Amino acid sequence: MPIPIQKLFTYKITEAESSYLKVGMRVAVPFGKSKIFTALVYDIHQMAPTAYKAKEIHQILDELPIITSRQLKNWQWISDYYLCSLGEVMRASIPSALLLESETLISLNEKFENAKILDNDEFLIFEALQHKSVFNVSEISKILDKKNALPLINSLLEKDVIVLHEEIFEQYKPKLIKFIRLQEKYKNDKELHSLLDVLNRAKKQREAVLTYFTLESTTKKPIKVKDLKNSSNVSGGIINVLVDKEIFEIYTIQTDRISFDKKTKELKKLSMEQKDALEKIKKSFQEQDVTLFHGITSSGKTEIYAHLIQEVINAGKQVLYLLPEIALTTQIITRLQQFFGDKISVFHSKYSINERVEVWYNLLHQENKAQIILGARSSVLLPYSNLGLIIVDEEHETSFKQFDPSPRYHARDTAIVLAKQHQAKILLGSATPSVESFYNAKNRKYGYVTLDRRFGDILLPKIELVDIKEEHRKKKMNGHFSERLISLIQDALNEKEQVILFQNRRGYSPIVECTSCGVSPQCPNCDVSLTFHKFRNELRCHYCGFHRTLPKTCPACENPSLDTKGFGTEQIEMELYDLFPEAKIGRMDLDTTRGKYGYQKIISAFQDQEIDILVGTQMLTKGLDFKNVILVGVLNADNMLNFPDFRAYERSYQLMVQVSGRAGRNKKRGKVAIQTFNPFHQILQQVTTNDYNNMFKDQLNERHQFLYPPIVRLVKITLKHKDFQKVKTGADWLGTSLKNNFHNCVLGPTSPAISRIRNQFIKTLLIKLPNDKPIKQSKDMIQKIKNSFQSISHFRSIRLNIDVDNY
Ligand code: ADP
Ligand code: ZN
Repeated sequence: MPIPIQKLFTYKITEAESSYLKVGMRVAVPFGKSKIFTALVYDIHQMAPTAYKAKEIHQILDELPIITSRQLKNWQWISDYYLCSLGEVMRASIPSALLLESETLISLNEKFENAKILDNDEFLIFEALQHKSVFNVSEISKILDKKNALPLINSLLEKDVIVLHEEIFEQYKPKLIKFIRLQEKYKNDKELHSLLDVLNRAKKQREAVLTYFTLESTTKKPIKVKDLKNSSNVSGGIINVLVDKEIFEIYTIQTDRISFDKKTKELKKLSMEQKDALEKIKKSFQEQDVTLFHGITSSGKTEIYAHLIQEVINAGKQVLYLLPEIALTTQIITRLQQFFGDKISVFHSKYSINERVEVWYNLLHQENKAQIILGARSSVLLPYSNLGLIIVDEEHETSFKQFDPSPRYHARDTAIVLAKQHQAKILLGSATPSVESFYNAKNRKYGYVTLDRRFGDILLPKIELVDIKEEHRKKKMNGHFSERLISLIQDALNEKEQVILFQNRRGYSPIVECTSCGVSPQCPNCDVSLTFHKFRNELRCHYCGFHRTLPKTCPACENPSLDTKGFGTEQIEMELYDLFPEAKIGRMDLDTTRGKYGYQKIISAFQDQEIDILVGTQMLTKGLDFKNVILVGVLNADNMLNFPDFRAYERSYQLMVQVSGRAGRNKKRGKVAIQTFNPFHQILQQVTTNDYNNMFKDQLNERHQFLYPPIVRLVKITLKHKDFQKVKTGADWLGTSLKNNFHNCVLGPTSPAISRIRNQFIKTLLIKLPNDKPIKQSKDMIQKIKNSFQSISHFRSIRLNIDVDNY
């Protein structure tokens, strides 16, 4: 059952059903008083349950299993390792269109017209939905007067008559590029000559036409309006005149991103060093299942992956290419698609229900289209049947870890187990490996291959630290910009090169503070200060979404003295408009990238050089490849370093090296300027010298000293309730029983830095499990303590989460 209960449930079936049903098929079953769920068959047996009377199933929904046995094994591992129910893993894995239940909301697909294809019952629902826009599955059962409507709803979904309400996706908007061509009638010489004669008096127009011919003969490709404008130096107005005169016509070509075309290119020829790295990886795979590939930024890791993928699909096996965040990595899709064309499928939670169901079935039936799966975190949960290779790109990225809701799994670690189940190989790639992966490589648990030359022998960017303490003292700062950074940006703009500026916070300035009484406005639901967003003149809570207009006076002392403190991406953007009024400025953060194609728009604009300076948060750091970026600026390194987390230094190192890696990826060496109050900080020194090994050594020492992963394993328990006293009593009880078993390995209970979110008070406990004790036993114990906690009726309403490897 797709529910957070550890148990499996037994239902009654007939003998005929028992010979038809197979493990992994879906059945509609009643649950509780009146609910209907889609459940999966786990086992078919002859033991009647003793604690309850088995109910009958409503209906069998499949002719064949929709999951594979290996997949089920993988889910089982997740459930055991991350201490969650198999049902939670199932719910996270199966697209919701395949998991209809009585509560699922359904509405009409606006685009559906062809009512002729519907049978009577289907038509009934189609009609009903014209009168009332949303129904749940139970209501539809009532309309039909049938106990079970799921098969009918499935067929309506297949026929595109209805959509599931929970997913209102932004409709797919293809990117349209405007092209220009000469009208058909001027294709013959005579007409053309007379045209040029006529245009003799209109110099500019004539120039536009002549430039068009030059472009046509040199590029032999469709000509963009933009290109014509740029090369001929005529205005859009002139071109419009020519269009009005019916000399030119404008047309658009859709650059479709979902349906993949045939392959267009052969794999790139590898350089000597790349070839060498590829051979070493293959050799490592002969001895090890897992190999860590430590290649500096722009060394061409992606091209090497492509070669590996080619070999594996030639051998008839499937490949999974895991990305930290697919929305950011449309670039990779485009790159791989050139080589592998329609053999690639993309799987991502932002894709629509039907797209996801399609990928699911393509994989299940081992279709050609699904030989390579490119996907984010959740694609480790899909029905693979014969994986040969998994690539985890940017393996150090935190977005591989799911924090909420359960299952709180790490996709990289799950992928390692998945690979083992398929006897496949797995490559973890990064320019800045996570401490835990490098640790495993050092201990020879993983193979290890390095590549420390950039493709084309471009040097790594030159990184300089700019001491802003000095500049502040000498009053030389201009807003948040040092003189040095301003002059570097100016140089880049003069050379028509692009700039990336990195600021690890969104919003205008995180905090508003009263200069009279020192109070900053707080969120009424959460224990945090509100963030100021200048664009809407609003204070917002980043945790619960609460917002209000910026008050004119301080809510505490009523003086008109509220002032902004700290700074975010939005304020940097504003300052740039003043500093570089000529430059085109863009911003990339959570606020500007909402919607399915939000990122894509900004990335394309930057790629097409419609933006000169791009300001952004860490989204900017993830594996993007821009050709024309010469300068990367980090506005403030200190707020990353001061973050209260045991991985703050490791992460700061990774972020800064990764963002620096966006500079100078083509021909010319890039520059990086990092502004800091503390230029002698060990991490900053290590970033400037690209000294991964010493960073690792220092961090590992600290982990030894203070007992953090990879030296121990962490399990975090979170309790939430709206009554503070209750959550406190519960946490104390839990703390005591955990300490009885794990002694001084238990930290807490404590209130986290943000101790109330959405009106729920929070308490946490942290358990540090030593690596040398059997982990299974410890987890069983934690599970047992959780069960006894939940059997105490006073605590039953407390929400309790367990997060294994919560970092
Ligand atoms: P990484 O993933 O290591 O940061 P990329 O694979 O993005 O590096 O490579 C950086 C740039 O160099 C890309 O634009 C890529 O196409 C180019 N490149 C890398 N290797 C080759 C090659 N062998 N031939 C041609 N171009 C290459
Ligand atoms: Zn809030």
